[in-house]
Amino acid sequence: MVEDTQRVIILGAGPVGLGAALELARFGVPSVLIERHAGTSWHPKTRNFNTRTMEIARGWGAATYKRLLSIDTPPGWKNPIRFMTSATGREYGRIETNGFEGPGPDVSPAMPIMTSQELIEEIMLDAARASGLVEVRFNTEAIRLVEGGASNDTCASLEVRNAKTGESEIITGSALVGADGAGSLIRRELGLRLEGRQDLSHIVNCYFRAAIEPLLDRKGVLFFVANDRARGVLQPLDAAGRWLCQITVKPEDWSSDAFSKDRAREWIRAAVGADDLAVDVLSLGFWKLNATVVERLVQGRVVLCGDAAHQFPPTGGLGVNTGLQGMHNAMWKLAYCVTGKAGWGLLDTYQTERRAVAVAITEQSLQNSANVGRIQAAALTGGDSGLDAEAVIVASRRYGNHLGVEFGAAYRSPAVIPDGTQPPAVADRYSDYTPSAVPGCRAPHIWLGLPGAELSTLDLIGAGFTLLAAPGAAALCEQASAASLALGIPVDIRRIGAAGLKDSGGFAAAYGLDDDGAVLVRPDGHIAWRARSAKDGGDLTAALGQILFR
Ligand SMILES: Cc1cc2nc3c(=O)[nH]c(=O)nc-3n(C[C@H](O)[C@H](O)[C@H](O)COP(=O)(O)OP(=O)(O)OC[C@H]3O[C@@H](n4cnc5c(N)ncnc54)[C@H](O)[C@@H]3O)c2cc1C
Repeated sequence: MVEDTQRVIILGAGPVGLGAALELARFGVPSVLIERHAGTSWHPKTRNFNTRTMEIARGWGAATYKRLLSIDTPPGWKNPIRFMTSATGREYGRIETNGFEGPGPDVSPAMPIMTSQELIEEIMLDAARASGLVEVRFNTEAIRLVEGGASNDTCASLEVRNAKTGESEIITGSALVGADGAGSLIRRELGLRLEGRQDLSHIVNCYFRAAIEPLLDRKGVLFFVANDRARGVLQPLDAAGRWLCQITVKPEDWSSDAFSKDRAREWIRAAVGADDLAVDVLSLGFWKLNATVVERLVQGRVVLCGDAAHQFPPTGGLGVNTGLQGMHNAMWKLAYCVTGKAGWGLLDTYQTERRAVAVAITEQSLQNSANVGRIQAAALTGGDSGLDAEAVIVASRRYGNHLGVEFGAAYRSPAVIPDGTQPPAVADRYSDYTPSAVPGCRAPHIWLGLPGAELSTLDLIGAGFTLLAAPGAAALCEQASAASLALGIPVDIRRIGAAGLKDSGGFAAAYGLDDDGAVLVRPDGHIAWRARSAKDGGDLTAALGQILFR
């Protein structure tokens, strides 16, 4: 029987709430997951789990990771972004992207997937249930935050109503994760403002079946179309007849009464350029284009994650990924706080480390959205508007090329001990990524073991801290053991080159270490501390104590 004071309440069983449950389970922390709907969503919304997100998914177990890989789109459908008069018409521009296909095995052991959200959620729900640590409550609507938002609150509680019986009850936990989407009740209850721009446009997201693929002479990840009758984007879901499209409509048309399935069908035919195309419209979803970030990500015992914390235009493909990557940053901290391993100040570093990342991605996604509008306007006017579509396309290179913000976040906070070095300079911090083991950066991936072993340095990072040590780092390994014992914190000590850890890719060089150096990696895979050689680094017990606010 799980005590109320042990479990964490998670509101919202979207991808980010499900991910939070999986992450907490990784640390042995039980959770109760509240969702007002009868099950997970069946309408596909977002499509893409990028490479960094799939690195996180590797931590949810091999079976879950492999199931996610198995719903990936067939080869050829992750690139490029095409700009066309219609999907079967003239192509007037394209953006070559690497963000959706991923940077490859030199940078990451994981592969990104392009799929659809309802399939992802089903797999995540199965994994959450299999953990034995997640109580899933569907048909349960949160109506009030009772406790948890004040700085001196020592638990969190939520009033919920059972949709079937109408009965209300108060659910209590040690903390609350608000993963309740763009219209977040929790954000409202905390009185937190969204900063940025809201209601920029009204979008109908239409899920349909049509045999479009046989009509196409090219593949792509996105088909932006612009003609007299249709302007928007077609998105292939499985290269086998399942599609989504995003149609921007006037505010007065933004409802199922005004925008019927018949209208959607006509729009799709015009967008494809096939007036007799058989189209089965499966569902319509209505959402608004926002570019906002909440002013605070943590308040008292409440953490906001995913769309509850920030909403981006989809032109960037980073909404759900940034939500999951932020959640990943927050959950190990929350787990360490609720189990008494860390002081609550650690949780505040989620705000310090992730809010600026969310703001940068919001701004770029908004810029991408504006660029798409300009490209389409230029194409429709045939250059009469003074805009040159080709020039705007060149200026839009960042769309889909986001390895810098995906992998390159270099955190500066009390949960990182600087060593006086800086991450390598790159030409464009949004698009370009150079692996680095400077404290605060994501630990670089290096293949270990014999060829084909498929073991990455990233696979060594578990629920505790991990010391990745060069072969001659015996003294630092002893220090790590002593720190682990002194603080009661698990520290996995991995001597690269030891049995099963053969260095096949220049570990010491990639990590900037001498033969007796080591790095301490946090449970989210970011470098907490580095001693480039045995004489550097100082007192590891003190450093770990500082990181954990002990
Ligand atoms: C119709 C639609 C279409 C979209 N299309 C795209 C797209 O094409 N591309 C793109 O990048 N992004 C798209 N998005 C956004 C994308 O789906 C989100 O970024 C992503 O789902 C965020 O995940 P999340 O878990 O934070 O929130 P959500 O997926 O929104 O999940 C929040 C969950 O909380 C539940 N919930 C909310 N309030 C309560 C309450 N009071 N009580 C109980 N449960 C509650 C909701 O029912 C929901 O299941 C779309 C969103 C919508 C709504």
